[in-house]
Amino acid sequence: MAKEYAKVFYNSDAWKKTRAAYYKHCGGICERCMKEFKEGKRSLEDVKPVKIIHHKKHITPKNINDPRITLSFDNLEGVCDDHHNKEHKAKVKRYRFDKQGNIIKNNNYPE
Ligand SMILES: [Zn+2]
Ligand SMILES: [Zn+2]
Repeated sequence: MAKEYAKVFYNSDAWKKTRAAYYKHCGGICERCMKEFKEGKRSLEDVKPVKIIHHKKHITPKNINDPRITLSFDNLEGVCDDHHNKEHKAKVKRYRFDKQGNIIKNNNYPE
């Protein structure tokens, strides 16, 4: 789900146009599946269609208004659900801090 601050962006015409153009650009095929296929790690039947146009440099409240991040093809990647989940899970931190500055252990962290 899109974060609150990003909703306006994801609903914008600029993003919708860029997303559609990028989808065509990558042929609707997950770029990571394709890479693995080319490396012989994945069979052609396992190459999945694009589900999400992902931002390589993740969108944050700081860069949400920077089109070089949000709308540049260089920062986009067409990926399937699996690869998208993997990408975001990889960024999961073991600990985080609450508002009071207490350390909270992330129970979803893959041990
Ligand atoms: Zn994939
Ligand atoms: Zn993403």
